[in-house]
Amino acid sequence: MMKNPIAKQVKHLILCLIAIALMAFPASAAGVRGKITSIDSGSISGWAWNPDNTNDVQNVEIHIFQAGKAEPIQYLHVTADKYREDLVADLKDGWHGFRAEVNWSQFNCSDFKVKAYVVKDGSYYLLGDAVSYSRTSGSSSKAPASSVKPAAQPAAQVTMVQPPSSAPTGASPQLVPISNTETPLGIFSISGYCGCDACGSGTGLTYSGVIAQANHTIAADLSILPLGSKVRVGNVIYTVEDMGSGIQGKMLDIYYNSHEEAMAHGRTQQEAYLVQ
Ligand SMILES: [Zn+2]
Repeated sequence: MMKNPIAKQVKHLILCLIAIALMAFPASAAGVRGKITSIDSGSISGWAWNPDNTNDVQNVEIHIFQAGKAEPIQYLHVTADKYREDLVADLKDGWHGFRAEVNWSQFNCSDFKVKAYVVKDGSYYLLGDAVSYSRTSGSSSKAPASSVKPAAQPAAQVTMVQPPSSAPTGASPQLVPISNTETPLGIFSISGYCGCDACGSGTGLTYSGVIAQANHTIAADLSILPLGSKVRVGNVIYTVEDMGSGIQGKMLDIYYNSHEEAMAHGRTQQEAYLVQ
């Protein structure tokens, strides 16, 4: 006994179409919305939120490109949890802004392209369109005028208000609070080194020119973490003062006073945090 086989086929077809539509629009499936709203001489601002859950704070990864190049020259990590009054009307509450500080003068080029992604469960969701920025003219191609901003307000008046920091200032050294000033960088492959000939130059001098110090000096891929970056691993906040030909991408090399200690570190996989 066949029971209306055509209706069954139509139902199957509809389910297939829904599945295809969901695959074609992953950003919609993840429920993430947002965009870059302004770029100026010192920062990149925007917003990101999940309309299905306004308490879901979005982790935003900003990629800065030299104009015309495919590989980013810098990655910045921020959380979209800053209050922006201009978001209140459209996003129910205003706590979905993000702002990343940028030192444009560190780059050799003057024309840039910037993309922002929400990183969720290992997937990247592009927020809005790529925005161009010129360091010389100080202008961005796409005006910050956005759907969430009343048209009457000029773009330059986008104001950022920092939420009050809840991080205790006198915290015990064992507990390093994840505060607004720390940004998770992801899991890094971390090794140890010392000043000996086998580990490095044998001079004890870092690439930055200062003398390496234990519990302080760390070597990183300078295209991701420029010299001077403060990086917390475990309970120690290190300063990027060195580099290494083998230290590329999500890798760090921690300086130790002796070769024994450096070798004892071995290779670990640990979360690293950018401290600002
Ligand atoms: Zn050594």
